[in-house]
Amino acid sequence: MDEIISMLSYRQLGHAFFSDQNPTPLPNCHYVYINKDLSKNLNLDHLTKDDFNNILSGQAQFGSSTPLAMKYCGHQFGHYNPDLGDGRGLLIAELTEHKFATAIIDLHLKGAGQTPYSRQGDGRAVLRSTLREYLMSEAMFHLNIPSSRALAIGSCPEPILREQYEPAATMIRTTACHIRFGHFEYASYHLPREKLKELANYCIHRFYPECLKAKDPYVSLLKTIIAKTAKLIAHWQAVGFNHGVMNTDNMSVLGETFDYGPFAFLTTYNPSYVCNHSDTQGRYAFDQQAQMGLFNSQCLAQAMLPLITKEQAIDCLKVYEPTFNKHFNYLFAQKLGLNEISESFIELTLTMIHQNNMDYTDFFRQLTYSFDDKNGRGRNIALDLNQFDSWNEQYENLLTKQHISHKQAKTTLQVNNPNYILHTHIIQNAIDLAYQGDYSEFETLCEVAKNPFTQNPDWVRFEKTKDSNDPDMSLSC
Ligand code: AMP
Ligand code: MG
Ligand code: MG
Repeated sequence: MDEIISMLSYRQLGHAFFSDQNPTPLPNCHYVYINKDLSKNLNLDHLTKDDFNNILSGQAQFGSSTPLAMKYCGHQFGHYNPDLGDGRGLLIAELTEHKFATAIIDLHLKGAGQTPYSRQGDGRAVLRSTLREYLMSEAMFHLNIPSSRALAIGSCPEPILREQYEPAATMIRTTACHIRFGHFEYASYHLPREKLKELANYCIHRFYPECLKAKDPYVSLLKTIIAKTAKLIAHWQAVGFNHGVMNTDNMSVLGETFDYGPFAFLTTYNPSYVCNHSDTQGRYAFDQQAQMGLFNSQCLAQAMLPLITKEQAIDCLKVYEPTFNKHFNYLFAQKLGLNEISESFIELTLTMIHQNNMDYTDFFRQLTYSFDDKNGRGRNIALDLNQFDSWNEQYENLLTKQHISHKQAKTTLQVNNPNYILHTHIIQNAIDLAYQGDYSEFETLCEVAKNPFTQNPDWVRFEKTKDSNDPDMSLSC
């Protein structure tokens, strides 16, 4: 593998992988929120509000960096689309001086105007979707689920047209990795093999240097990405998160939650819930996500075939299912304060939650916060008390069998079951207020997102899991 050359800036992949593109300035765009914690960790706390205004409005470059739009392709709803790429966002900087354990952190300006990959789009983002992404990526991060994060949001008073007119906005997204499965599809199907190799080498060097020690680093790279993807989706299933648009252009090779669109959390446990209202077939329904992660992994494996054999690709794909199951079982055991759990007890628990029409988060909240109450642990929200009591008896037996005291169980429950989940109606309420110029609720939600496992008497209203006027809301991007 001495061909693997050391290169870290995405720009060094060459113009086959991007187009130089400056932001199209968004007049009167001003910051509305800056993520101070993140800014500090990125060593960017010297930036003034004017600096943020200049960057968010696309009027200034970030230091000496020159922005670019990445080229990628992807399978969208099962169909290959070669015409993708950063259509409304730009890589504006790659930070090397920061407090995270990775070599580089990307800064990406979303809503920066049109690029060669915009197709019919206007290159802009609306304030609603940036506020949603901001809150949800912070929430995921603090729920210990890998995610991109947002550094700052800017808003512009001039509206843009979506389903209705809405304020335009920009957002700075940060992550160690903006490379998607779709980058590999692009390189494999549209560029010479040498370029695919360069992309794979780049990923190994930048994200997975441990693959260099393997007998075949490309096989190791594929296997690692597949395992990371399986683990990520196990996290989503355990917490009740529905991503909504699991196209291969939205899958990060780092296994992070990425490209926040019409996402939502389950309220009442409904395995076939579909948050994306344009997904009429339910392709990305909650209970399809594990399967879709495998489909996406197959697309990636296929794209890597010029570098590995078919047998190697199949071998790598075999890693997906056991990794998903192992990780999901581990996470579910933790949610119940157990050391280990059988598939059948998971099934029994989910069936009980489902048949009793329970809210998914609320069941685990009740379990956590009323563990020693004889009417607690979810009994208070059960419809069929016999079914609940039978479940609870089996649960008690498991605790005994695994020598777990109530005190120990409660400690595990508290760090694994969020008390606060940012449901759609909670975020939407903050957005409605922000649209009237009042960011106080949004700011409160930023705090809630940072502290999902605590109990705060001022936040009781966020325990309400569903707006009664708003049954199973579904969303557009
Ligand atoms: P998404 O559904 O967010 O993953 O976007 C799919 C593709 O459409 C990506 O290539 C985006 O960059 C592009 N895109 C989404 N919205 C816009 C927009 N308003 N203007 C230009 N391109 C867009
Ligand atoms: Mg996308
Ligand atoms: Mg998107």
